[in-house]
Amino acid sequence: MDSTLPPCPHCSCEYTYELGALLVCPECAHEWSPGDGASDDGPAGSGVDAEVRDAVGNVLADGDTVTVVKTLKVKGNATGIKAGTKVRNIRLVEPVNGHDIDCKVDGFGPMQLKSSVVKKA
Ligand SMILES: [Zn+2]
Repeated sequence: MDSTLPPCPHCSCEYTYELGALLVCPECAHEWSPGDGASDDGPAGSGVDAEVRDAVGNVLADGDTVTVVKTLKVKGNATGIKAGTKVRNIRLVEPVNGHDIDCKVDGFGPMQLKSSVVKKA
């Protein structure tokens, strides 16, 4: 076996060997489980919800009130959503085409917005 077993955490002996699921040190007879202390499992929850940030880097959360920072075109609407429009009670969602905020805009109804075009109010 050309294994690369970790040295003994007690005496740093390098001649450790495997005994079932445990590692054993021939010098001090210390036995331990290789998973212990080694945190290469990755942080818990990695891959879950990345933080959603607004145009200036504030972290957004469900229920936040945001202000639209630039005028947004809305299909079928001549004026669109003007910069400065306040949007209350946003909900963060799985991004769809980059739109990661679900909300209701006064006068427009339910909408999806990109977090990059809003600023936390
Ligand atoms: Zn040892």
